[in-house]
Amino acid sequence: MKLPMIIVHGGAGAWKDDRIPVGIEYVEKAARAGFDVLSSGGSAVDAAEVCTLFMENSGNLNAGKGARPNLDGIRELDAMIVDGINLQFGSVGAITGIQNPISLARYIMEKTDFNFFAGDNAKKLYDRMIQDGYRREIQAGEIEIPYISPVGDTVGCITVDANGHIAATSSTGGIAKKLPGRVGDSPVMGAGAYANDICGASATGWGEHIMRVVLSRMVVLYVEDGLDVMSAAQKGMDMFERKTGSEAGIIVADKEGNFGYSTNAKAMPISVIRSKADNLQSHACMKEE
Ligand code: ASP
Repeated sequence: MKLPMIIVHGGAGAWKDDRIPVGIEYVEKAARAGFDVLSSGGSAVDAAEVCTLFMENSGNLNAGKGARPNLDGIRELDAMIVDGINLQFGSVGAITGIQNPISLARYIMEKTDFNFFAGDNAKKLYDRMIQDGYRREIQAGEIEIPYISPVGDTVGCITVDANGHIAATSSTGGIAKKLPGRVGDSPVMGAGAYANDICGASATGWGEHIMRVVLSRMVVLYVEDGLDVMSAAQKGMDMFERKTGSEAGIIVADKEGNFGYSTNAKAMPISVIRSKADNLQSHACMKEE
């Protein structure tokens, strides 16, 4: 019995050695927050939103409060949530002035006829979301975490609920030294994340190159074609490196709760919980793994 389950990553990159334990600490907290939602009967989408909110609020990961600024010194955030059961998704690109783009991504998915909003008009939609009472703010730009009391922190995750229903997210401040207006892979369906009724994936790393190979969709396709999830993650990274020569990482989970991960960057903190809260494993996936 592996369900419900959650797998979380804190970003693949050139982590400084002393920052790796901090990354592991925060992905583990985020995994616990998401798992609490799953084990109290919440849906995969509920849990994926909560887990990602924790990462956005941690201040210690490259998303939300901790997002790295663009070349103008402004935090421009990208995020996406995918509902595997119906291939619905909501995406936000280059939004400023808020901390929690993941809740807006969910609002876009559930409450509008559209999928992807960017820039100032995304912020207007955020204001409408608050006015509608879809989510409440603790302070300007910061969402009150729904479903559970806020206890921890959290940038991509995959959740599988007890019914085998999968959701996936990604949320980021983007790569270092990005030009204002630049949007990476994270809010791009199939690139930064993907989920269907068989498998989900969430990617991290150099977004320009992740988009070129549509990394998350490719890895899910490998699983649909019969590969196990760990081999699919490795095959995805091999293909990515061969075709782009760039750095990235990927986490994968299928509807049975099997999971896989791989990176060719120095490190990618991950945390996994399956079936019971104490059945938890957290470590940094390293390039050599
Ligand atoms: N993939 C993200 C981007 O290119 C960055 C990251 O994963 O750290 O915006």
